[in-house]
Amino acid sequence: MALVASSLSVGVVAHGASATGRRATPTASAPMFAGFRRVNGAPAVLTRDVEANSMVSLQASVRATGRGGCGAVRMAAQARGTGKFIVGGNWKCNGNMASIKSLVADLNAGAVNCDVDIVCAPPMVYLPMVKNSIDSKFEVSAQNCWVSSGGAFTGEISAEMLVDAGIPWVILGHSERRSLNGESNEFVGQKVAYALGKGLSVMACIGESLEQREAGETMNVCYAQLKAIANEISDWSKVVIAYEPVWAIGTGKVATPEQAQDVHAGVRAWMRDNVSPEVASAVRIQYGGSVNAGNCEELAMQEDIDGFLVGGASLQGDAFITICNAAQAHYDVVKAMA
Ligand code: PEP
Repeated sequence: MALVASSLSVGVVAHGASATGRRATPTASAPMFAGFRRVNGAPAVLTRDVEANSMVSLQASVRATGRGGCGAVRMAAQARGTGKFIVGGNWKCNGNMASIKSLVADLNAGAVNCDVDIVCAPPMVYLPMVKNSIDSKFEVSAQNCWVSSGGAFTGEISAEMLVDAGIPWVILGHSERRSLNGESNEFVGQKVAYALGKGLSVMACIGESLEQREAGETMNVCYAQLKAIANEISDWSKVVIAYEPVWAIGTGKVATPEQAQDVHAGVRAWMRDNVSPEVASAVRIQYGGSVNAGNCEELAMQEDIDGFLVGGASLQGDAFITICNAAQAHYDVVKAMA
């Protein structure tokens, strides 16, 4: 059920200036490059035509005419994703020994029918237990880690500890940590860099509040959050971006597929213009916000939605497996477009 009016603008603004100093130089002619998206294990080579300047010029036209917003972003963002679908389950601060054992048993019994990366993020104290009992079709993730090496940081867990414990993933920048723990964009950027430096893979969360969306600031907010990360890192190969509109998290209000696709396309265009076309094509962008077994397929059919980050529904084994299997709908669409 999409409760936020689709007429709300995503607030497209110019972002042509380099955010990082690492921007790929746009060429006069459109550079060609190939990416791949694995479908049921078989790599499918997709050749994409990336016009490095199209987004900037199109945005200028949007500003001049006041028209062309969301759909225009989608049309301009030709740097499509090329990665394997990835679904994260953020169990947050839920469960106990008994319920988590039961959830793991349900997940282990679930039939995952397609080639999809699945990463479950239990509460920290249960991480080793889950890691040791969950089926190999799942990886595990922490929900947070500290910004530097360990020491006098009561209550924190360092990236080094996660690596030492064999935990390959961490979620960083979740809106609940940004709002409840006061994590700034810059702090999140530093945490992402530190975690990557220690060898972790990162699901890095971005997203706007309802007030920001209604003010037309959605893309500005996302770009600022991305820029703070891009300022700190140059290698994006172990980063998944999770676009999670704050108004959709845990509220039952899911973004429409079009709303989600528009922001994902804008994020990918920003990556193309400020990092590189290759990274923009390769980076996977998850949608998060009230994804469930009923709405996942339609969302997965959007070309720039490369996966999900799931909260509430990840606590129900059968629903979560259904969400993982929505990857097939995504592959079918991508295959039809190739
Ligand atoms: C989340 O917390 O990352 C999330 C998306 O939660 P939910 O699916 O419950 O909205």
